[in-house]
Amino acid sequence: MRAALQMLRGDDPARRLLWRTLGLARLPRLGAALRGLFAALGEEGPRLLGAPSAEALVSARPSIAALAAPSLLGCGLPLVGAWPMELELINRDLAAGKDPDNVLDLRLSGAVVHELCHGLRRELHGPPAPWMVLESAAGFLGWLAYPRHVFPELPGEALPGTAPFLLLGQCLARLFGRRALLRTMGGAPLQGLFPEGAAEALDAAAREDFERRREVPFARDALAAPAWVKLADASRAERRVTLAEAAALDFDALPWWSEEPLPEDLELARSAVRSLFQVNVLAGTYQTHPCEARELRLDTRTCLLRRFRERRRWWTRRQCCGSRRRRGRNCWRSIY
Ligand SMILES: [Zn+2]
Repeated sequence: MRAALQMLRGDDPARRLLWRTLGLARLPRLGAALRGLFAALGEEGPRLLGAPSAEALVSARPSIAALAAPSLLGCGLPLVGAWPMELELINRDLAAGKDPDNVLDLRLSGAVVHELCHGLRRELHGPPAPWMVLESAAGFLGWLAYPRHVFPELPGEALPGTAPFLLLGQCLARLFGRRALLRTMGGAPLQGLFPEGAAEALDAAAREDFERRREVPFARDALAAPAWVKLADASRAERRVTLAEAAALDFDALPWWSEEPLPEDLELARSAVRSLFQVNVLAGTYQTHPCEARELRLDTRTCLLRRFRERRRWWTRRQCCGSRRRRGRNCWRSIY
């Protein structure tokens, strides 16, 4: 809680918004997303979210701060979307006379719903599931609840940079079942939720990743998602590989390649394409904006789908002038 207080301390209009009483009738995104969360989780919703319905949840925890507080990361990290630069942006919106509920709904609903997607704080009796899996489950659930929080129709309404985690989540749900993936939200280890070989492979990948870097995971790790998908798929053929080995595998050597497409595969393809119609803006505040993609290129050997000859009209001058390697890394890439 200390870190959150440090970030949230102060008494300007943006900070007061975090404590503003929520009325779902005036907050279309938040209302739809909360109802979507309960719909997606079904009978597990009340236990995982701590209330029987969206209305009851907001009645018991009637502000953004109160909604976030008992969530898994609500006491250890400042709320994404309410960091100092973002609070400045919100202050500018409010100073310009914008409606506080509209500002809250646009700029904070995606972030607080994402925190709810990580579930409630819980006692741990063993190592948690790999962060990549938990983040992809949260991204997947957030998309089920309210797709515009992943694929924005307006600048500022999405949780920034979450599309790659959604894609990984869709892959894991396709391979091991939606229910298994969403149940990770309750804090259970992968053993018991995923097939034994897959759970062992994913847990080992998390250890390998940490040993290699000795860093806490972060949003950039989404770029490593293809290796996690291949490793998970290989485990279905009882083939155990490291993350590094998985990255070098060809898709046509894996079971998924030769399976008949399921409805989940088509949904996955739709998400992959949609993820190329947005761009992350790093200048000022970190946001994901919708954008046009005039031409897409699909490499059927590597399954790499990317924008081709894109115009980076959302990028800042400094980013456009970066090295070729940096520009390449900034491209949205998807293997799915
Ligand atoms: Zn998260």
